[in-house]
This record gives sequence, structure tokens and C-alpha cells, in this order.
Amino acid sequence: MLYSKKKFALVDCNSFYVSCERLFNPSILKKPVVVLSNNDGCVISRSAEAKNLGIKMGEPYFKVAKIVKKNDVKIFSTNFALYGDISRRVMKTLKQFSPQMEVYSIDEAFLDLSSIKNENLLEHAYKIRKTILKWTGIPTSIGIATTKTLSKAANYIAKKEKSGVIDFINSKQVDNFLLEIEINNVWGVGRQLTKFYIKNGINTAYDLKKIHNSWIKKNTNVFGSRTAMELRGFPCISLEPHEEKRKNCCVSRSFGKKVTKLEELSEAITAHSLNAAEKIRLDKQTVKKITVFIRTSPFVDKKNYYANSKSIDLAIKTNDSIELIKQALFILKNIYRKGYKYQKAGIILSGLEDVNSYDKNLFSKIRNEIKREKLMKAIDYANARYGRNSLSIAQAGLKKIWSGKKQHYSKIDTASFRLLPTVRI
Ligand SMILES: [Mg+2]
Repeated sequence: MLYSKKKFALVDCNSFYVSCERLFNPSILKKPVVVLSNNDGCVISRSAEAKNLGIKMGEPYFKVAKIVKKNDVKIFSTNFALYGDISRRVMKTLKQFSPQMEVYSIDEAFLDLSSIKNENLLEHAYKIRKTILKWTGIPTSIGIATTKTLSKAANYIAKKEKSGVIDFINSKQVDNFLLEIEINNVWGVGRQLTKFYIKNGINTAYDLKKIHNSWIKKNTNVFGSRTAMELRGFPCISLEPHEEKRKNCCVSRSFGKKVTKLEELSEAITAHSLNAAEKIRLDKQTVKKITVFIRTSPFVDKKNYYANSKSIDLAIKTNDSIELIKQALFILKNIYRKGYKYQKAGIILSGLEDVNSYDKNLFSKIRNEIKREKLMKAIDYANARYGRNSLSIAQAGLKKIWSGKKQHYSKIDTASFRLLPTVRI
């Protein structure tokens, strides 16, 4: 086999959300732990102990409630602010090991290790793992190979190894490892393709590697043959180190209870607008178009279903929370109808662009833009230093009765000094 000179590592955090919760709660370190999706709906992260109890990924909470009770499984509602913050720390640490890096998801990144000598790859990976664990407290697994698809496969095997690292480049057993990987667990093979492959006797990553190229070309699309080529060690998917800034930003939630009043919807829309505005300011972006949507549940009471949305094109691009809230509430009033039980509301900011100092115009002075810019900076600074929502807009409400179900929320806020763990001597 002719190997190319590229070397990739896929670094993946183990049970990421669970690991984040464990950081601040050492008493759950060796216990079965599960994190639930929004509104405490489904299982989205499990510790190894929870996996061993037979709790499956994506399963609705009510279905696993019995196992949870019987085995004293610790349950957590999502805390995405926490996971996002820890993810940023992990990625920042990883970047030191290779400037060529692609953040693939909240808990995974590809690194280009082409400059590392083959004989030093393993040692390098151990060092990465150790550093991430020491600096952030998050355990990881690392797969090394000559293509991105193979590094994903190596990572899949590494997850089951105590060492946490598998290096396909120096291994003579790659084919044996590929035999262990079922076809649905191969990166890039979706549900439909899995069905098709199994029907044709391709059950493992190894089978796909060995299948004739002309068969793949004839029977699947370009993505299918790309995956097969990559399994053979020919790189077809390159690293994408440049993080593209987002073009849209959507913040929406399902309500914890049905909401009927305009005031409650206004609170929710205000809170979502604040959240979205803060996000785009962090990315140094401004918005041109704002959309607000509301709807009742499509499943309960079908006769009384109502859904509506409207957009406004802003005359002047902005990322000012107060301005965005004003526009969003104007739309909300326009689409709100009395007599419905609302289940969800949200805001979408689209046409996002980088902040450009030339955007200021004739009206800037009249709109007191400079003062407002300073106010937004002060709000962002205060919330980063003293905890999220330390400074908010009163309109966002204090009780937030409309907010989603979060019965098992850990309340950890990495931006709050009050929540730092205390050590008693
Ligand atoms: Mg992971």
C-alpha cells in the first residue's frame, strides 16, 4: 500500500457533557451519569458506567427512568453555556500542538501532524492527551492515520483502549481494527447508505475498503467512493482550518409550560434577542435582517394550531441588544394572536456580516451610537466577569415561567466567582 505523507489526528473528548459536569462535581466521578437534551427530553451524553447499564444514546428520558432509579444514575439537564466554555478551553489548548487544526464539533478536532516523525507520533499523542487532561480536566481519545476517515476509525478503536490512543500509521493490524468497525460506524456512511451496503454484504469498514472501486463508483455517489478511497489510505478530504463565521444565528426554545399571554411571549423573545445579540457581538458581527416566529404544538389540539413568522430588514446594520429587542417585539406584536397555547418562540438573525467601522452613517450621532456601543461592551464585560445575566434588560423577566424544563440543572457558571468550588481546611 502506498501511503501519502499526510498525517491526521482526530482528538475527541470522552462523554463530553458528562465530563464537563464531573469537573465541578467530583462526587459523580465513578458513578453512572447522564445528560438530557433541552426540556429534559432525551439522553444526549452518557458516562461509560451509564453505557454499561444499557442506557442508549438518544433515548427518551421516560424510557430509561426505571434503570435510572434502580441504579441511582445521576441526571443533568443541559448546560450549554458550560459546555461551550469548556470546549473553547480544550480547543485553545489543542491549537498549541498544531497550528493546522479543524474544529469539527463542540468536542472533536482534526489536527495536521504531518511534521511529526512517524516514530514520534505515539509519544506526541500521549503528550496531547496528558496536557488536555491537566489543563482542562477533560479526558480524550486520539486516533492517528493518513486520512481523516481513517483517523476517525482509529479514534473509534482508541475509545475502547485504556491508553486512549491508536496509531494506524505504525500499526500492522489496521485491517483487523477495520474488521471490528461496523459499517454504520464509519465516518460519512449515513443511515441510507448503511442499509444499501448491508444488503450488498458490506458489513464492516474492512469490507468497504476491499470492495472494488468500479462497483462503488457505479452504485454510490461521489461521497461513497471518497469514503472507500480514504479507508484505503488515499486522502480525498482535506483539513478545513478556517473557521467560517456563521451567516445566521437562531435562538429558540420550547416552553416548559404552555404560554398564552403576549407579556410572557415578549419576555421570551426579549431573552432570546439578548442571547443572540451577545453571540454576534462576541463574533464581531452585525445583523441586517431579523425574523421572529411563534407556534403552538403541532401534535396537541390540531384544530387550534397556529404558527407565524415575520421578518424586518433593518435600515442600519446593528448588534445593539436594545435596538434588536425593539424590532423583535414589534414583529411579535404583529404576529401574536390571542386564544392560542403557544409552545415555542424564537428569533433568527440573518445576513450576518463583520463589523465594519465604515458602517457608521449620518444618523450615528443622532442615535447616540457610540454611547450605546460602550453600554453593550459594559454589559458583555459584566456578564463575563460576574456570571451570565448579571446585567440584563428588565423586559426579559425575572421569573421566566416560560423557560424550558430543567429539573436537573447543575447551575454551574464558569463566569461566576460565586460558584467557584471552596476548599475547607
Ligand atoms: Mg465525544
